[in-house]
Amino acid sequence: MPDRKESESRKLLKRLRETLAAPGGGQARLDSITRQIADSMGTQVCSIYLFRDPDTLELCASEGLRPEAVHKTRLRLGEGLVGRVARLGQPLNTADAPAQRGFRYMPETGEEIYSSFLGVPIQRVGERVGVLVVQSRDKRLFSEDEVYGLEVVAMVLAEMAELGAFLGTAEDSLPLAHRFPQVFRGRPGQEGAAEGHVWLHEPRVVISNPFGDDPRKERARLNDAVDKLRQQIDALLDGSDFGDGDHAEVLEAFRMFTRSKSWLRRMEEDIDLGLSAEAAVEKEQSSARARLESVADPYLRDRLHDLDDLSNRLLRILTGQGRDTGAAMPPDPILVARNIGPADLLDYGRSLRGVVLEEGSVGSHAVIVARALAIPLVVQAHRITSEALNGDTILVDGDSGMVHLRPEEHVAAAFGEKLAMQEAATLRYAGLRALPAVSTCGQRVELYMNAGLMADLPSLEGSGAEGVGLFRTELQFLTRTRVPRRAELAEMYRRVMDNAQGRPVVFRTLDIGSDKVLPYMKRIDEPNPAMGWRAIRVGLDRKGILGMQLQALIRAAAGRPLHVMFPFIADPAEFDQAHRMLMEYVAREQAMGHALPTDIRVGAMIETPSMAFAPASFFRMCDFVSIGGNDLKQFFYAADRENEQVRRRYDTMNTAFLDLIATIAARAGEAGVPLSFCGEDAGRPVEALAFAALGITRLSMRPASIGLIKSMIRAADLDAVRATMEAARASGLTNMRAPVAAYLASVQAVSPSASEAISAG
Ligand code: PEP
Ligand code: MG
Repeated sequence: MPDRKESESRKLLKRLRETLAAPGGGQARLDSITRQIADSMGTQVCSIYLFRDPDTLELCASEGLRPEAVHKTRLRLGEGLVGRVARLGQPLNTADAPAQRGFRYMPETGEEIYSSFLGVPIQRVGERVGVLVVQSRDKRLFSEDEVYGLEVVAMVLAEMAELGAFLGTAEDSLPLAHRFPQVFRGRPGQEGAAEGHVWLHEPRVVISNPFGDDPRKERARLNDAVDKLRQQIDALLDGSDFGDGDHAEVLEAFRMFTRSKSWLRRMEEDIDLGLSAEAAVEKEQSSARARLESVADPYLRDRLHDLDDLSNRLLRILTGQGRDTGAAMPPDPILVARNIGPADLLDYGRSLRGVVLEEGSVGSHAVIVARALAIPLVVQAHRITSEALNGDTILVDGDSGMVHLRPEEHVAAAFGEKLAMQEAATLRYAGLRALPAVSTCGQRVELYMNAGLMADLPSLEGSGAEGVGLFRTELQFLTRTRVPRRAELAEMYRRVMDNAQGRPVVFRTLDIGSDKVLPYMKRIDEPNPAMGWRAIRVGLDRKGILGMQLQALIRAAAGRPLHVMFPFIADPAEFDQAHRMLMEYVAREQAMGHALPTDIRVGAMIETPSMAFAPASFFRMCDFVSIGGNDLKQFFYAADRENEQVRRRYDTMNTAFLDLIATIAARAGEAGVPLSFCGEDAGRPVEALAFAALGITRLSMRPASIGLIKSMIRAADLDAVRATMEAARASGLTNMRAPVAAYLASVQAVSPSASEAISAG
C-alpha cells in the first residue's frame, strides 16, 4: 500500500473522528462526513444510504446530489446499483454506471451526469447498516487502494452508527439498525410459544474506538492478541478432554487460521490505513460474514464459520470483554445464539423462556435438550444474531418456526392472546391433576411422561403423570466432554428414582449414533446414519459402554424395582442378547454381594416395522414393549424425521400407519405383554385418541401435553371413537384425522389450545 494513500486515509479517519467528537446532531455529522469523503477522494459526489427498514434504503446525506433528494430517495434491497451493493454485501466499482445491469435512474438526484460509481456496504459483522457511495463525472475506475480505503471508512461509519453517532435530531430521526420490527422464518425445533427479551449467548463486542492513532502500537496489540489466541487454541488442543472427534477437527482448523499469514496481513493493512486493532479484526470478520452469505459449499462455509469464531475470540482478547459481561439477564430471557452446545444450554436450564438459533437442525443436541427442558425452540432463524440486541422484545412461536423481533403492537397483542389461552388451559388442566384418565366408556388410560434430565423430575408432580414412560439416558452422555463414570451414572439414576418417589421410571439404554453423536466418540461417516450404526447396535458391538450403563442401573435400583428398555430392536436376537447381558450383570452383582433390585422388568422399543411381524416368542420374551413412534413412522414411510422437506409429508392418521399400530397392539395383546406408545404423537390429541381407541392404554408424552390429553380422554367414549373410525373407513376414507377431530370437537372436550392443536394436525 503506497505511503501517500496511507496518510490520506489516516487523515480522513482523523477528520471523521473529530466529527464524531464534535457536538451536533446525527444529520449534521452525516453531512459533514460526506463532504470530507468527497473531498478526500476527489469525487464530485459522496452519499450515505441507510436502511429505513430491512428492505428499504434511504438516501440520508449527500455531497453532490440534489439536497431535495435527501430523505426522499428510497431504494429496495437489490434495486439499482446501491441496492445491489447492500444485498451482496460487496463493493461495486464501475467507470460507466449507466451501462451497468440494474442501474436505476432517479431524476430527483440529478445523478445522470455522473459516470463512475463506487459503492461499498456499511456493515458490521453481517449486520447491514447501509451503503456508502462515491461518484464522479469522469469515466474512471477506482483503484484497488481507493476501494480498500473506502471500505475502511465504511467500517468506521458502521461502528459510529452502532455507537449512536447518527441518532437523529428532533426533527429528522434517522433510520437505524436494531430499531425496526423484524420477522424471522425459522424451523420449529420444539413446540410452544414464548414471549420475552433477547439474551445473546455471545454478546456482541462493543468497539468504543474504531480509530488507531499509532499504527505501530496497534500492530503490536494485534500481534500480541494473536499470540494469545494461538496459545489458547494450543491449550485446548492439548487438553485431554478432547479425543479425536469433531472438536479436535474444528480446533485444528482454528490453529491453521491463527497461523494464516494472509489473515494477519490484511488486518495489518487495515491498521496502516488508520483503524484500531479491534476495528481491523472486525472489518475482516465482516467481509468473511458477507462471503458466508453467498457461499453454498458446506466445507467452505464451515471454514468461514471457523474464521468468524476466531475473530470473536480475538475481539474478546483485544477488548477484554468476555462472554460474561456482568450484565444481568433480562426478565423472561429468550436465548439467541448462532448455535449452542447441549452442556451450555443445560447451564441456562429452566431460566430460559425460549431459544432461537441461527443454525441448528431439528435433530441437533441443543434441540434434544430443549425438548427435554420443554422450552420452545426455533432453529435456522437466518441472521438473527446480527439483528438482535440484548433486551430486545422477542416472540417465539415454536409451532410455526416464526420469530418476531421488536414486534409491532398488533403482533404482540395477538401473540399475547395465544399465550393467555395457553395459560388458561394449563390452569384448567391443573384441576385434573389428581384425577385418572378414564374415558366415559370406562376405559382407563395411563399417562406417563417422557424425560431425559434430572431437571424434568419436578414435572412428574406438576403434570400428574403416573411415572416416566421413557427416560432417554443419552443426555448425560451428550452433555459431557468425556464418558461419564459408572459411579456418576449410578448416582444420577438413583436420584432420578428418588425423585420419582416410587413411581416407575423406564430407563431407555443409550440411543446414540444417528443424529446423536457423542463429542468424544470417533465420528464414522455413514451414508445414512438413521439407518446405520446406532442405539442397541452400538451397545451390542461395543459392550463396554452398555455394560457400564447396565451396572450403574442395577446398582442405582438396589432394593427397589428396575425398568430397563432397549432401543431400536429390529430383530428378536438383539433383544435376547441385550437381555442376557443384563442378566449376566445382575449375576455378577449378586456374586459380589451387592444388593439387587427387587424386581427387574425388561422391555423392547418397537421402532422398526419388522417387529410388528416378529414371532410370538419375541413378544413373550419381553416384560413390556413400547412403540417409538418417531422412528417407527420414519421407517414405515421412508421419510427422514429430521428432514423438513419430508417430515410432515405423511400422516400418522393414515389408515396404513394406524393398521400397523393396531397390528402391534394385537400381537402384544395375544402375548399378554403390556404395550405403550412413547413417540411425540402420544401427546397430540387426535393421534392419542385414535391410539387409545386402538387399544393402547399407556401413553408416554412430554409433560406439557398430559393435562390436555387427560381432559380429552375423560370426555371421550373410546367405543364411539372406534365406531367413528370404522364408519369412516367403510365410507372409503383412508385418513382418520378429520373424523376423529370432528368427534373430538363434538364432545367439546377441547380447550382452545386443543382445537388449535387439532387443526394444526
Ligand atoms: C421414538 O423414536 O419415537 C422415540 C421415543 O425415541 P427417540 O425420539 O428418542 O428416537
Ligand atoms: Mg427412537
